[in-house]
Amino acid sequence: MTTQSLQVRRTKIVATLGPATDAPGMLEKIIAEGVNVARLNLSHGTPDDHRARAEAVRAAAAKVGVEVGILADLQGPKIRVEKFADGPVQLEVGDAFTLDCRDDAPDGDATRVGVSYLGLPKDVSRGDILLFDDGLVAMRVESIDGTEIHCTVTVGGKLSNRKGLNRQGGGLTVDALSDKDRNDIKLAAELGADFLAVSFVRSAEDMHTARRLMREAGGHAVMVAKIERADAIPVLGEIIDATDVVMVARGDLGVEIGDAELPGLQKKIIRETVQRNRAVITATQMLQSMVRSPIPTRAEVLDVANAVIDGTDAVMLSEESAAGAHPDKAVAAMVRICLGAERQFEPKDERMLDAALQLDRADQAIALAAMVLAGHLGVRAIVALTESGATAQWLSRYRSAVPIYGMSPFGEARRRMQVLRDVHPVEFSHGEQQSMAASTRAAVRMLFEQGKLAEGDRVVITYGDRVGQAGGTNTLKLLSVGADGIVDSLREL
Ligand code: PGA
Ligand code: MN
Repeated sequence: MTTQSLQVRRTKIVATLGPATDAPGMLEKIIAEGVNVARLNLSHGTPDDHRARAEAVRAAAAKVGVEVGILADLQGPKIRVEKFADGPVQLEVGDAFTLDCRDDAPDGDATRVGVSYLGLPKDVSRGDILLFDDGLVAMRVESIDGTEIHCTVTVGGKLSNRKGLNRQGGGLTVDALSDKDRNDIKLAAELGADFLAVSFVRSAEDMHTARRLMREAGGHAVMVAKIERADAIPVLGEIIDATDVVMVARGDLGVEIGDAELPGLQKKIIRETVQRNRAVITATQMLQSMVRSPIPTRAEVLDVANAVIDGTDAVMLSEESAAGAHPDKAVAAMVRICLGAERQFEPKDERMLDAALQLDRADQAIALAAMVLAGHLGVRAIVALTESGATAQWLSRYRSAVPIYGMSPFGEARRRMQVLRDVHPVEFSHGEQQSMAASTRAAVRMLFEQGKLAEGDRVVITYGDRVGQAGGTNTLKLLSVGADGIVDSLREL
């Protein structure tokens, strides 16, 4: 066996589903390659498409024998231009162009077009720069006249139907949850999504609203806040505290704040999210050339590796898997690059020192103690017997290289753990065990039988002394594995 095949991948992979993964056998292939979370992009496709894909993910995951989380990603209030009467128009620098913000604006031409957000005239002022199609076309606002915004083209190019519109610097007040999003939350609940991603989040309040709607719809999904508006940055801490997972949504974020700001912001968002005990996904254009090419560019290899080194929990594929020519090769490339980065760079645990400042729950305190022990005693694995997965999340915030086995009887909890770096969910039920001592022995024995532990390994186990209580972890135990996986007490350290 090579070193690489022994190495357990620490970073998780999110892959967006689409026509390319609908090809026969493809879903199974990418799950076998290493997809941990499948993303349904609710900006495209019908409810029936998403229902079918969610079912297909479950079937493929069961076939491969792994847990795969399902992430439903809301379209959000992306502002778009409406349609053009005769197809795309070509705009040149200096052209005058009018945005017609009326409900009944006629189809556009080379001088004007309708806009999906009728409140736009009150949100923009003279001198603002508006960016279309992720910045491929830009215009300066010259004047506002009732429902019309008169502009001059500053970056020329082709503008076609339904392209996105952003204001440089952000600040458009459109609501974070559109009527479509509210319906899609119900759809996400119905299809049993494990994660709900909210697009264009502006505030903690947006996350509270989405979470409430998800609960009202009877769904169990945890929240993902997509950071893609300039306005989110000043209130980043509050948004992180209000969500479970953060996504660095580099596509729209780069348009609003300018691409040169992205590297610094990516690092800041990852650092702050981990410090605040939440998980973080780095997204968009990570392996963009693989939409067509079977291999990534060197720059893309470096981008994925740098996100791993920045400490992201997960990296994400968008078009590469949803509509690319090689979804399986894109996943394989991500696996390979993550493993390489994890092998070549030591985890820098900057959190350890200030961690004590963040402790506000018993299970967080136990997690800190477990990581200190693991760091000092050469522990082979940390085992969290967890109802909700919460303890595994606290443990994994320390970015130690020791694998964490999150053992839970609940599929929901196991799939939720699939976004956490270093955490490997394992199905485990206390079953017939009479005592916690018997349960911990059974858990160690199971990992031994699965080849994850060997004789002589030291293990730290965390659990709650009352079974069946989420957030009840209050106990830490240090064990060593004896012959045949029978637990020895520690004879000597
Ligand atoms: P999207 O979000 O793919 O839904 O636009 C990600 C991003 O903007 O980067
Ligand atoms: Mn986006």
